[in-house]
Amino acid sequence: MKKLFLFLSLAGLAAAQIQDISGQRIRAHVKFLASDLLEGRGPGTRGGQLATEYLAAQFALVGAKPAGGNGTYFQKVPLVGLEPQPDSQLSARGKGRAIPLGWLEDFVGVSQRQKPLEQFDAEAIFVGHGIVAPEFQWDDFKGADVRGKMLVLFTNEPDSTDPRFFGGRALTYYGRWTCKYEQALRMGALGVVIIHTTPTAGYGWNVVKNSWGREQPFVKLAAGEPALAFAGWVTSAAGEKLLALSGHSVEELLKASNSRDFRPVPLGLRLRGRLPAKIRELDTANVAAIVEGSDPELKGQAVIFSAHWDHLGIGAPVNGDSIYNGAVDNATGCAMLIEIARAWAALEQKPRRSVLFLAVTAEEGGLRGSEYYAEHAIIPPGKTALALNYDAFYPFGRARDVVVSGAERTTVFPLVEEAARRLNLEIKPDARPEQGSYYRSDHFPLAKAGIPAFSIHMGTEFAGKPAGYGEQLFREFNAQHYHQPSDEYREDWDFSGLIELARFGMLLGVNAANLETLPSWKPGDEFLPAREKSGVK
Ligand SMILES: [Zn+2]
Repeated sequence: MKKLFLFLSLAGLAAAQIQDISGQRIRAHVKFLASDLLEGRGPGTRGGQLATEYLAAQFALVGAKPAGGNGTYFQKVPLVGLEPQPDSQLSARGKGRAIPLGWLEDFVGVSQRQKPLEQFDAEAIFVGHGIVAPEFQWDDFKGADVRGKMLVLFTNEPDSTDPRFFGGRALTYYGRWTCKYEQALRMGALGVVIIHTTPTAGYGWNVVKNSWGREQPFVKLAAGEPALAFAGWVTSAAGEKLLALSGHSVEELLKASNSRDFRPVPLGLRLRGRLPAKIRELDTANVAAIVEGSDPELKGQAVIFSAHWDHLGIGAPVNGDSIYNGAVDNATGCAMLIEIARAWAALEQKPRRSVLFLAVTAEEGGLRGSEYYAEHAIIPPGKTALALNYDAFYPFGRARDVVVSGAERTTVFPLVEEAARRLNLEIKPDARPEQGSYYRSDHFPLAKAGIPAFSIHMGTEFAGKPAGYGEQLFREFNAQHYHQPSDEYREDWDFSGLIELARFGMLLGVNAANLETLPSWKPGDEFLPAREKSGVK
């Protein structure tokens, strides 16, 4: 009874501060962070540095303490930028024939060994989806020795409608292409060629081509750390040609990959590659600030709020504009983070656990800042109660619903439901779980380290607007402005929805920071083993 009283009174005390979260302040931060002066906030650029300095100054102003290295707000993230060159070559040779593939037209890829020139010539073996998942009695390798070989595979995972088998319709991490590269490296393979198909990837070749054709950041390898000599993709047409050399077809092998009895297929051909790359070190950082908890025993534990500060920097001009401002993506999330930090630091009675505000770098380049944080955590994962991520908010008004995909898999879900109830928000399920969007945001590397983690997204049902209004606005925005120089701040934006979701996250965060025991993943969840490994039982 006493505990219940304490819990309620703390939430009650916090209510005034939560109510104080302001749209005018959020607007001012978005306007500055998305201004041309910041040149699109590319990691390792002057604009990026200005953005991190701004975040640090704002955290200092609100009274959140430095939580980075050497008493600063900065956790340096050593990244290497790898820019593949247009004269990159990949070819398949077998049965006395050679099939050269064209850069960007037929294939993309990099050497993850971070060298200015990679060359290889190795045997190719088809390994289905390249998955080893003992909990589903699934092993695409069946003991085959793939050391030093080039793995050819499809991304995604075996078809399922049974939630106990590869998550049913929803994609599990096994289905993500990043997981394929990690598995290949664990097995000692030389490299991986993914045969792209739109259904297995969830998007077209143009998306693959655009993200792989430019400089990509990687966490700098430690001395002697193993890495793949080739991580890349070929189009389905190129895959068809390549498989035809060994008497197979895309359709046939895709079908075979859906069977538990699948066995690796040696393709009887060699893949030869020559990959020059421009390499540079990127000087960049995560920005970290902390507000200490009030409980002497629990203040070593924390709740994390994260948002990525980076965007695409300066790039190819569109309609004469080359600055990719990233106003929605993700000046909005950063602004909300600063505003939550201000409200939290102003709480008279601080929650029992501490709170860490983490503005991460290089999300656009593959979640590198959050990945680095997960491996160099400021608060150990086993002492982190919950991580809430904010990424890309549309300032088009207040939605009646909120999307918190992944929250239902954690034991904090009752608190999520309570916060939604208090703010009159309806929790809306992920409309397309088969796309695996859960694995494409900064909360994911933290979840992989065991921390209950998810992103908070705005729903699509707008008060006083017809059904489908939000859906249409989002679709238009995505088509015209997503990852374009035109994702710019506008004076006519309505920040009421952002206020609401900042309040929602703060209420949830305060309650999680006051919980008696650390939350976890629910039984059977793919992240529960990592949670237990982090020391939370
Ligand atoms: Zn983003």
